[in-house]
Amino acid sequence: MLIIGANFAGLKAALSLPPYHCVSVFDPQPDFEYLPNIHELLSQIKKPSLLRCPRQQVIEKAGHRFIQQRIEQIDADKGIAVSDDGRPYPFEACLVAVGGINNTYGVPGAERFSMPFKSVSQCHAIGLRLMSLFQKGLSPTIVIVGGGLEGIEALGEILRRYRHHPNYRLHLIESGSRLLNQAPEAVATDIRYHCRSLPVKFHTRTHVKWMEHSRLGLSTEKTLNADAIIWTGGATAAPLLRKSGLCQKANQWAPVSETLQSRIYPNVFVAGDAAELPSPLSKQAYYALQTGLAAAKNMRRYLENKPLLKLRPSPKPMLVSFGDLQTYAIFGKTVLAGPSLAGLKEAAFHRTLSELDASGTMHTLIRAYHRYASSLKDLILPAALSFSALRRLPGVRIL
Ligand SMILES: Cc1cc2nc3c(=O)[nH]c(=O)nc-3n(C[C@H](O)[C@H](O)[C@H](O)COP(=O)(O)OP(=O)(O)OC[C@H]3O[C@@H](n4cnc5c(N)ncnc54)[C@H](O)[C@@H]3O)c2cc1C
Repeated sequence: MLIIGANFAGLKAALSLPPYHCVSVFDPQPDFEYLPNIHELLSQIKKPSLLRCPRQQVIEKAGHRFIQQRIEQIDADKGIAVSDDGRPYPFEACLVAVGGINNTYGVPGAERFSMPFKSVSQCHAIGLRLMSLFQKGLSPTIVIVGGGLEGIEALGEILRRYRHHPNYRLHLIESGSRLLNQAPEAVATDIRYHCRSLPVKFHTRTHVKWMEHSRLGLSTEKTLNADAIIWTGGATAAPLLRKSGLCQKANQWAPVSETLQSRIYPNVFVAGDAAELPSPLSKQAYYALQTGLAAAKNMRRYLENKPLLKLRPSPKPMLVSFGDLQTYAIFGKTVLAGPSLAGLKEAAFHRTLSELDASGTMHTLIRAYHRYASSLKDLILPAALSFSALRRLPGVRIL
């Protein structure tokens, strides 16, 4: 068995498979990355090391083999995956969990002049860039492209750290008619309320037409000068899917049945963001974990000639943080809001990492201790003890 991609879906799948399956797990990067909290690197409330754990240690502890290589192509008919150093790896069944890649929608200059927001190292680089701009005593103008979950969380973190700075400007560009259009409108209204007296300008129904060094052109014919441009515009499918014939068109996610089996190749399963189910799930870490687990179970059943099981997704509230100003827990159409809800997002972070990083070594314990200590000091205590949060307790209102 092969697992290609070892983040949420792939790692969860690997850890659920017993050692006798002899699974080889591929990823070009050495560390698992907890992406739902990477926006906190912008305010530097989290350090990169708190959001990572080493794959080799975790995977070997589960009795499998970690190969730090990118898979370039899968030939499902022959049952072979080829790594980027040209080595072939035969398989009877394989799980593809490669997530997505940054999507700049072909905007000229965007790849070169904006900072992507998709990994720990990218967000750490943004955090350092912001710090150097603010430390120089300049009046920086920062542009965030994208008003979805990532863009809003990025904005919140910049405001957490720098909103009391005397001089700065923030622009957020969103092509849709409102912010966070996957959430009820009340969230967008509340975010605007928190920004009402801050130098933040929201440009909705606006898209970026071109980008140059420190400048970008908008569909409204306006041009903005910017000291930093952060791109959170969205994700698209990894080229491996098309190259391996797991989808028909470029930029398409891999179509799977409700059992997570590829619609094209029965010996290939797809989980996490890369999979397109008949009723598509939102691209969220908790669904990646659920689909990873279900796909691993079905891979085993496929090899044992047993009937495959349909995925029964269990929805969870979507947690959106807006720096230290607000956290939202979104249950379908109902939204709870309150800074003290930050503890919920923090609890999800600890729970998931302690499940995945359960290698049981001294290093694991040290990492867990650092995560807890840092969260307690920088996030949980300030949120729980802030005057405005206490004043609102039982604390949380329904928007
Ligand atoms: C900034 C940000 C904020 C987010 N916030 C939240 C949130 O608050 N809540 C939430 O639930 N979700 C959130 N998400 C979404 C969540 O992170 C994703 O849904 C989740 O990471 C998907 O997991 P995955 O395992 O499918 O893919 P990924 O986590 O993207 O992992 C894919 C892995 O595959 C590897 N890979 C890629 N190509 C190859 C190849 N050819 N060969 C081998 N390996 C390969 C990559 O290196 C990577 O490790 C956020 C995402 C981002 C970027």
